[in-house]
Amino acid sequence: MKQSKTALIIGITSQDGSYLADFLLTKNYKVVGTLRRSTTMHHENIEHLKGKIIIESADLTDSESLNNVIQKYQPDEVYNIAAQSVPADSWNQPFYTGEVTALGPVRVFEAVRRFCPKARVYQATSREILGGVEGIEHANEKTPIFANNPYGIAKAYAHMMIDCYRKSYGMFVCGGILFNHESPRRSLHFVTRKISMGAACIKLGIQTPPINELGQPLVDSNGKLHLGDLNATRDWGYAKEYVDAMWLMLQQEKPKDYVIGTNTSYSIKDACDFAFSHVGLNWEDHVVTNQALLRPTEITDMKGDFSLAEKELGWKPRTYAKQLMEIMTTSDIEWLTKNGYK
Ligand code: NAP
Repeated sequence: MKQSKTALIIGITSQDGSYLADFLLTKNYKVVGTLRRSTTMHHENIEHLKGKIIIESADLTDSESLNNVIQKYQPDEVYNIAAQSVPADSWNQPFYTGEVTALGPVRVFEAVRRFCPKARVYQATSREILGGVEGIEHANEKTPIFANNPYGIAKAYAHMMIDCYRKSYGMFVCGGILFNHESPRRSLHFVTRKISMGAACIKLGIQTPPINELGQPLVDSNGKLHLGDLNATRDWGYAKEYVDAMWLMLQQEKPKDYVIGTNTSYSIKDACDFAFSHVGLNWEDHVVTNQALLRPTEITDMKGDFSLAEKELGWKPRTYAKQLMEIMTTSDIEWLTKNGYK
């Protein structure tokens, strides 16, 4: 069957990039995915995509690499998924976060403007652009931007450039203001995956668990899982469902920004409870707060009001936090077993 359209996914190794590729292949797209140069050729999230998509090399810090790939493939749709995506790391790497997460998208927009101006562009914005907003329980597209960490501020800059490119050049660029979304493909830098993996390790009695971002075993020799602020809250949805919304945004008549979330929020304690209970454990026996994992500033509690997306895109979430944590914990038990962890 002839392939319908060409989509370029910048950041194919990511959780979202890999699910988006799966989704676009079901729609018969020719999918080109970029990864950045690395000494390893193993990218777990895209192992199953090898042979089904075209892989190119590009880096958000390198305009030339973005220009080349956009010029070469003339994509109908460009999804910029890549970023220095870990808010907690952004305090240690504020310059790099700005280079990649703020300026990187502008390099993509410029490459499209110069070499493929008719392409429709999706930019991965984040709810962290609203991280410092107080007194608003349900955020929507009109909630004023107020970020309070280097990652959120970098995303806010890129987000504001979306509208600048729409208004200045008439380009079709959409921003997905996505609330947290998780899955078995989530990196271990993020709390939900730490919880699901931690619960799985403890359940299986794993003696040599994967390491955390401090370079220490995720579960210590006393069987304790180390986390940051247990009272912090998030609106968590399922990444596999959120990529549909990205595509839907680019199929509309006019480019717009949309909030994508579940309009619910839960604490880290709740997420621990969902994962540990699922495998018959009491999280309070196994989870400790590690001061070294606290963020210098937390984001405020907020839920993602997706009513515009529901009305205009026909999108709504189907999986909520409890079921999501259960899916992830089951998957991590399988993953540890398959990968020979003992
Ligand atoms: P992720 O799994 O953390 O992946 C980030 C991707 O960016 C990886 O493919 C990474 O490549 C790539 N990358 C990092 N630096 C790069 C650079 N200099 N040049 C090119 N690629 C680079 O991300 P995700 O969770 O799927 O999220 C996707 C996007 O949505 C990100 O922009 C993220 O900030 C944003 N977002 C995510 C959430 C969420 O809850 N997941 C919520 C809101 C917004 P390597 O594999 O080489 O590291």
